Amino acid sequence: MRGVTFLGNRQAEIREFPDPQAGPGEAVLKVRASGLCGTDLHRYRGSDPTDMITGHEPCGVVEELGPGSPSGIKIGDRVICHHYQGCGVCEICAMGYEQVCPNGRITYGGGTGHGANADYILVPSRTLVHLDPELSFEEGAAISCGTGTAWNGLKKMDISGRDIVAVFGQGPVGASGTLSAKAMGARVIAIDVVPERLALAKELGADHIINPQAVNPVEAIRELTSGLGASASLETSGNPIARQQALESIRSFGRSCYVGIGSPAEIDFNRDVIFKVATIFGSWTFSKSELIEIERFFVDTKAPLNKLITNRYSLDQAVQAFQDFDTSTTGKCVIVMD
Ligand SMILES: [Zn+2]
Ligand SMILES: [Zn+2]
Repeated sequence: MRGVTFLGNRQAEIREFPDPQAGPGEAVLKVRASGLCGTDLHRYRGSDPTDMITGHEPCGVVEELGPGSPSGIKIGDRVICHHYQGCGVCEICAMGYEQVCPNGRITYGGGTGHGANADYILVPSRTLVHLDPELSFEEGAAISCGTGTAWNGLKKMDISGRDIVAVFGQGPVGASGTLSAKAMGARVIAIDVVPERLALAKELGADHIINPQAVNPVEAIRELTSGLGASASLETSGNPIARQQALESIRSFGRSCYVGIGSPAEIDFNRDVIFKVATIFGSWTFSKSELIEIERFFVDTKAPLNKLITNRYSLDQAVQAFQDFDTSTTGKCVIVMD
């Protein structure tokens, strides 16, 4: 089968790999969609090559099932993979948060296990959840990391129609935050330095857009909120300045959630946390049960998840897909297979 690896320094390559076979408790999926996610770019841009197949947003159809797989999963089922494997038995794994397992973890498509930028992917059967019939494979791929990550950060802050949320960064995760916060009823201020991404944010429902290269975003947010600041902020860019501003731009008793991976930032704890009586959340993707909850949210609200996906590629076009995504001007890029 074909699989996509990174050679280091912004080079991707399509290579031949042996077809996987399902052992006990394992499933082989025929990949139907595999999303590109911001964290891929950190490794794509890095100098180290990877021998593992990339792609940590796997969505497809069950092709083969090993003995001992859960009885609820059948060959031919449309599924999303919760792409982590922890020890499977500790308290945190039992919560469905295998990515946080203290006993070590495999991330499928994240460098420690083969991912979904391939014809097939081999994963533990217990990592699979059903893909709702109303969602497409590419929507399932988006939910399985980037979109789900934004959604769950908003859930942690309990976002509702009483909120005005500042979403820092409008890449695929931030754009998902804009879309999701709107569907939760909030007003949304979208912040990014890339005009194409601000245009997409508008299309996804952002009430206001701010380009920090044109104005100071903290001041602009205050102007839009009667001088108070946003009631909540979601930081998706990982940029150290945005990390500061996400806290600086919330009002007293506001909350901020951090999901963007990036560089350390200095925080003025007196001004922005203590005297503001602020609440700070960290969030890393979501649990397996939340993956199902996120699917149901998009089915129930009919929030236009498909609008998020701006670029589609065949597996043979994977090198181009990473080149395009690396420009940091696109919406969600997805590799789609027949
Ligand atoms: Zn564990
Ligand atoms: Zn991701």
